[in-house]
Amino acid sequence: MKSSPPAAAAQVARVANAADIPVRVVPSRRRRRTVSARMVEGVLEVRVPAWMPSAERQRWAERMRLRVERQRRRAKPGDRELEERAREFNRRYFAARLSWTSIAFAEQNRRWGSCSPDSGLIRLSSRLAEAPGWVRDYVLVHELAHLLEANHGPRFWEMVSAYPLYERARGYLIALDHAAGGSDEPASEID
Ligand SMILES: [Zn+2]
Repeated sequence: MKSSPPAAAAQVARVANAADIPVRVVPSRRRRRTVSARMVEGVLEVRVPAWMPSAERQRWAERMRLRVERQRRRAKPGDRELEERAREFNRRYFAARLSWTSIAFAEQNRRWGSCSPDSGLIRLSSRLAEAPGWVRDYVLVHELAHLLEANHGPRFWEMVSAYPLYERARGYLIALDHAAGGSDEPASEID
């Protein structure tokens, strides 16, 4: 009987659309029967026994992805969470200097976030409710910084860089735009 060729160490199973959580299937020789899954920097890593046939791996990847998405939908943050988070960031990164009138999610597909410093309105795209918390936090810090600085000058980025994951989160959003649009032009901007 012919044995199957060794599987690649890791493969990204599918990135069907931008709303889906990307899944990476990792075959493990130590793992015998059980399958485990955990989020690693925005990618769901599904560990399967190395002997498991490819079709079964895919089924597990899909099952785990749906499970995590169900959990996420239940845990989806609302406007109140956003407001509380903003207060926390105001204290942590802006010495409590900021004030605003309203922070909420809104249906906006072209932009991840927007801020009107004059009216004190901050809106985050409702698509971010599905994104990893550390990415959503970055957009929130970004919009909060606009309350003090309207444009993206050095002073602006100095404030935003107080948030430790800001560069990684920017990269994440760019990658998400590419997955959705497949073009070099970003589909979403942050204002
Ligand atoms: Zn901006």
